[in-house]
Amino acid sequence: MAPWSALSADELQLLVSAFWSAGGSRHHLADRLGYSKSKTNALIAGLVGQGLLAETGVQPSNGGRRPESLRLNDQLGVVVAVDIGVTSLHVAVFKPDLSLLGEHAEPIDVREQGPGAVLPRVRALMQDLLQRCGASKRQVLCIGIGVPGPVNFQIGQLVNPPLMPGWEGFSLRDDLREDYAAPVFVDNDVNLMAFGELWRLQRSLQNFVVIKVGTGIGCGIVCHGEVYRGATGSAGDVGHICVDQAGPRCYCGNLGCVEAMAAGPAIVRGAVEAAQSGRSPVLAEMLRTQGQLEAVDVAAACRSGDAAASDIVQQSGRLIGQMLASVVNFFNPSHVFLGGGITRMGPLLLAAVRQSVYQRSLALSTRHLEVQYTPLGEQAGVIGAAVLAMHETLRAPGAAR
Ligand SMILES: [Zn+2]
Repeated sequence: MAPWSALSADELQLLVSAFWSAGGSRHHLADRLGYSKSKTNALIAGLVGQGLLAETGVQPSNGGRRPESLRLNDQLGVVVAVDIGVTSLHVAVFKPDLSLLGEHAEPIDVREQGPGAVLPRVRALMQDLLQRCGASKRQVLCIGIGVPGPVNFQIGQLVNPPLMPGWEGFSLRDDLREDYAAPVFVDNDVNLMAFGELWRLQRSLQNFVVIKVGTGIGCGIVCHGEVYRGATGSAGDVGHICVDQAGPRCYCGNLGCVEAMAAGPAIVRGAVEAAQSGRSPVLAEMLRTQGQLEAVDVAAACRSGDAAASDIVQQSGRLIGQMLASVVNFFNPSHVFLGGGITRMGPLLLAAVRQSVYQRSLALSTRHLEVQYTPLGEQAGVIGAAVLAMHETLRAPGAAR
């Protein structure tokens, strides 16, 4: 049972609002909830008295009484977040208000390593980090996990994950239940990024998408202020939208999927070709000294003025923008946030994406459209995992795990 399981509906709503408004003032909370000042103050006093909320310092204000900010009490426990990527593993421990206590990231490869190899590592890292943060297993409030594939959210199980063949039907939630009493929530990595953005924006935007470009390409959708998963949980699977019917064959069997032509591996493939054919002296030199190339090398070559590297980056951006134009025309989001490894590629790629989207989308859908890299950067995945876990735990406080 969560520490807030005995609260009244109004108290719980205020606590949820305090979580989502990330350190907002009591005036701000009263406004958000539409409660009177006196009702809000009484609810806050009760929650502070029960050790659920804490008042932390003073916010700058335009005259009058200076409003203190409110956050979830540190004493409630900790939130554990795990972001399993195709080629990286990121584990973090947060306070209930999502201040970071500790984190660790390391390379993995889920295409080759099945759950039998990855899960023991995840568990060991969780344990180490908790210890480093001075927290015990019993202090864990909730656990959020992101995976790079389709998830049946209700049962926390991977469904036919194309990049993770060994994980089909595997339940991360059941696996972690052996170690932890806290509830475990598993979702697709891009949905988690959408949760992360919602929290960063304090739910101020209602309709936007997050595009993750790393080893693959996926889209998280926020519709009417909620993360939209679709009828069977596979909404936003945009990586296999065709951008060139004469393009190369994708692992899914189709030709010219945007993922096969514009994601990290395609950028690396283009870089190796440019190095070996002599078109890029800069990349050739990098390949000679490093023995291999990564997408960030292409970005570096680009900054040094290498024309072939710049072509590769612009081609990738153009194709991502082409796919995105369909998404924008269909969904009409106010914002598109780009995340994943792509954020390391710099302004040239972003400019190419923007140009391509604006060229191909209808005028009405791009009138106020903003396309930008996510300000959460490399932490977008773990922050999103923590937001999902807190959101779900606050939503059903009495529910059995
Ligand atoms: Zn495909």
